[in-house]
Amino acid sequence: MRPTFRHGVHPPDSKELTAHVALRRMPYMDEVVLPLRQHAGKPAVPVVRPGDRVQRGDVVAEADGFVSSPVHASAAGVVKSIGWWPHPDGSMAEAIRIAVDRYSPQIPRPRMVPRWEGLTPQQVVQAVQDAGIVGLGGAAFPTHVKLLPPKDVRVETLIVNGAECEPYLTTDHRTMVEYPERVHFGVRVMMKALGVTRAVIGVERNKPDAIERLIATRPSDLDITILPLTVKYPQGAEKMLIHAVTGREVPSGKLPMHVGVVVQNVGSIATIAEVFETGLPLVERIVTVSGRGVRRPSNLIVPVGTKARDVLDFCGGLMPDATEIVFGGPMMGAAQPDPETPITKGTTGIVVLTRRDTPRAETLPCIRCGRCLEACPVFLNPSQLGLLAQAGRYDDLEAMHLGDCMLCGSCSYVCPSNIPLSQMFALSKMALKKARTKVVA
Ligand code: SF4
Ligand code: SF4
Repeated sequence: MRPTFRHGVHPPDSKELTAHVALRRMPYMDEVVLPLRQHAGKPAVPVVRPGDRVQRGDVVAEADGFVSSPVHASAAGVVKSIGWWPHPDGSMAEAIRIAVDRYSPQIPRPRMVPRWEGLTPQQVVQAVQDAGIVGLGGAAFPTHVKLLPPKDVRVETLIVNGAECEPYLTTDHRTMVEYPERVHFGVRVMMKALGVTRAVIGVERNKPDAIERLIATRPSDLDITILPLTVKYPQGAEKMLIHAVTGREVPSGKLPMHVGVVVQNVGSIATIAEVFETGLPLVERIVTVSGRGVRRPSNLIVPVGTKARDVLDFCGGLMPDATEIVFGGPMMGAAQPDPETPITKGTTGIVVLTRRDTPRAETLPCIRCGRCLEACPVFLNPSQLGLLAQAGRYDDLEAMHLGDCMLCGSCSYVCPSNIPLSQMFALSKMALKKARTKVVA
């Protein structure tokens, strides 16, 4: 039997637009905008003031506690201001604006390259936190937190997430094809930090060249399995991947470490390797720019903080029938009304959809067809949750396990009545979070 999970959907993957397009480096623009909130947890705290000169790689905001991450200047220049700016999540958020030195060679200050072999696991974890590494698959959870499981929890296996099941995106694909040795080096460092002897890299079968490259470069002294996975959405969701690789279910309310695994995105693994190769923190990331609405679909290495408008201009601009700019993919991504929104650490791609991709469809009443139940990978009842969300019955939503919903969009995708179920669940989750914060305050 092929490794996979139960339920799920099969949207067209549309990866042919960029799957074989080699990575290019995006040039530095006049300005980068660095939100203080680019990760799950507490926002970073600025340590620079307007007028300060910074070099590429300098800390501009410090982590605020353990579940937080520092932010580094992605380009040399002068701090222009610290204030509100459009954030990819649709809100306005505090951000540091840097006017980029036009003629700077963008060479970072000389820095210590940590020799990972001589470090204790705690020192490796500290180096990962200091470098501002977060999950690059979209969730942006600080990586160092996953590397420090509580003492009473035993982690046996590191699972590397190379599934990249979201349509259009080829960020992880190109990382695995172009930097397979770096991926293996990152796995080596992570295995040491976690004290595990086994790693599995899960890759969907629609990336045969990535599978081939990873197998060809696999180090002989490590137990690393390259596992081809069934092409199905959302194969890359943490719980689905764990089920496909180990056959284990992560119980509701529990974490992957409770079933003995830690999952890390392949892009984050490659970035960890870079920290121990160059000493440079996370100041750039790989971004797929795709969709039929952009002239030159590309895979780019982009300085964090580059604005969407600049990235799209570099890719030839928009097609006349472009209708929507989405950060992430069409299933879980967020539409961006403002092209000044910057690329953050968690931005996997920019997908530009056209009129053909986004036909107007009227929302109709639920016909109780049950398709959403068959699609939901965590076995929820999206139809019923939708009715409760519409009625604003948040307590009942909690009782019906809304907390387990990953907002994967599979239910919305199959619904013949065009009910925006996952969007309704996202709003309900936000309302619940707000209500809880109020109660605590
Ligand atoms: S969005 Fe939530 S309810 Fe809908 S299919 Fe995904 S996990 Fe299930
Ligand atoms: S797929 Fe849509 S119409 Fe069918 S049961 Fe679910 S919510 Fe109702």
